Amino acid sequence: MSHLFPRHTKANNPTIEHGAGVYLYDTNGKKYFDGSGGAAVSCLGHSDPDVTQAIKDQVDQVAFAHTGFFTSKPAEALADKLIEHAPAGIERVYLVSGGSEAVEAALKLARQYFIEIGEPQRHKVIARRQSYHGNTLGALATGGNLWRREPFSPLMIETSHISPCYEYRDRKENETAFEYGQRVANELEEEILRVGPQDVMAFFAEPVVGATSGALAPVEGYFKRIREICDKYGILLMLDEVMCGMGRTGTLFACEQEDISPDLITIAKGLGAGYQPIGAMLCAGKIYDAIENGSGFFQHGHTYIGHPTASAAALAVITKLTDGGLVERCRKMGEKLQAALKRELGQHPHIGDIRGRGLFIGIEVVEDRETKKPFAPSKSINKALKKATFEAGLACYPMGGTIDGVNGDHILLAPPFIMEDEHIDEIIAKLKIAIEEVL
Ligand code: PLP
Repeated sequence: MSHLFPRHTKANNPTIEHGAGVYLYDTNGKKYFDGSGGAAVSCLGHSDPDVTQAIKDQVDQVAFAHTGFFTSKPAEALADKLIEHAPAGIERVYLVSGGSEAVEAALKLARQYFIEIGEPQRHKVIARRQSYHGNTLGALATGGNLWRREPFSPLMIETSHISPCYEYRDRKENETAFEYGQRVANELEEEILRVGPQDVMAFFAEPVVGATSGALAPVEGYFKRIREICDKYGILLMLDEVMCGMGRTGTLFACEQEDISPDLITIAKGLGAGYQPIGAMLCAGKIYDAIENGSGFFQHGHTYIGHPTASAAALAVITKLTDGGLVERCRKMGEKLQAALKRELGQHPHIGDIRGRGLFIGIEVVEDRETKKPFAPSKSINKALKKATFEAGLACYPMGGTIDGVNGDHILLAPPFIMEDEHIDEIIAKLKIAIEEVL
C-alpha cells in the first residue's frame, strides 16, 4: 500500500519515469506528448541541459541560505532580469515558492501599502467570476470558481466578483468587441461604488484566464478601462500571471499586450519551468517606497523565499526565454498551432470556440454549436476528454462544466515553446482520436 496522499484517492496514475524534450515517459514505457506542461508549467520541455546544469552548479556552491541572514547572487540576478523586462513602474521582486504564495504576498503587500500611506480602512478586494488565483485561503477567496470555493467559504475573507471578459459567451449582437469590453469593465466602477470606494484595496484579475475558462483573452481596451477606473478611485491593479505569464502568451508578461502597467504582478509556473518550485510577486516602485519610507519591513515571509537553487534555475529559464528567443518562438508556434486547430477542428459540431494567445490555447466544447449550449455538468465531458487524450498519448488540461454551470467544458493546451512543426500534426491527431471517442 502506498503511503502517499494522492490528489484523487481513487486515481491510479501511472508512475512517471523520465522526460525528454516535449515528451514524458511512464514506467511502462508509454510516451506522452506534454501538451499542457501540467498546468502551463513546462515551457522549456524536459531535461533542458542549461537549466539542470545551473541547478547542479548552485547546489555545489550552496543550496540554501535563509533570507533572514543572507541574500544570494542568483536571487539578485533573477530580480534584475525580471525588472529589466517588466512593465513600466514595476521595480521590485519578492521571490516565493509558487503561485498561491505569490498571490498571498501580493494581497498582504497591498493591504500593508495602504496602512503605510495612511489609508488603513482599505481592505476589500474585487475580482472576477470564473477565475482561479490559487488554493491557499486568501488566494481561494479572491478566485471566482464556485466549485473550488464552496466548501471553504466560511474560512475566507470577503471578496466580491464582477463578470469576466468573455466575448464568445457574453457579447451582445448589437455590440462591437470594444463596446462589450467597456461595458464589462464598467462593472468594476459599479462594484466599487456599491461596496464603498474608500474601503477598496485592489482589483485582481488574470490578463488571460487559464484554468477556469481555457485561455480566455480580453477584448481590446478592456484592461485600459480597468486601469482608468482603478486610478480614479486610488485602487491597486493586481494582475495574476501565474499561468499566462513568462512568455506563455507570446510576450514575457501577458499584460504587455494590453499596453498597461499594473501595480502588482504575480508569476510562477513558467518561471521555474517545473525544474524548481518558484513564484514571484513583482510590485511598483511606489509600493516598495511606501514600505521603505514607512515601517521598513514587509510583515510577511516564508522559509524558502529567495531560495538560491530555485532562483538559479529560474534565472537559467528566463535567460533562455528572453536572450534565447523562446518567447518569440512561442508566439510564432502559437499562431501556427491555433490556425491548424481552427482548420482541422473549428467546424466540429461540438467545438464552440478555439481561442488564446501564443502557446496558450483553449478549445471550448459545447453540446450545441449554434446556441453555444454547454454539455450538462453531470456528463463530465472534461473528465472523459482528459482520460481519452491521455490514453491517446497526449497529456493536456481539460476543465470546466462545473464552473458556475455557465460555460462549456474546455481543453487547455500549453505545450513547450520548443515544440516543432511536426508536433502540431501529432497534437491534432491525438485530439481527434479523443474527440471522436468522447463527443
Ligand atoms: N494563479 C493562477 C492564475 C493559477 O492558474 C494558479 C494555478 O493554477 C495559481 C494562481 C496557483 O498557483 P500554485 O498552484 O503554484 O499555488
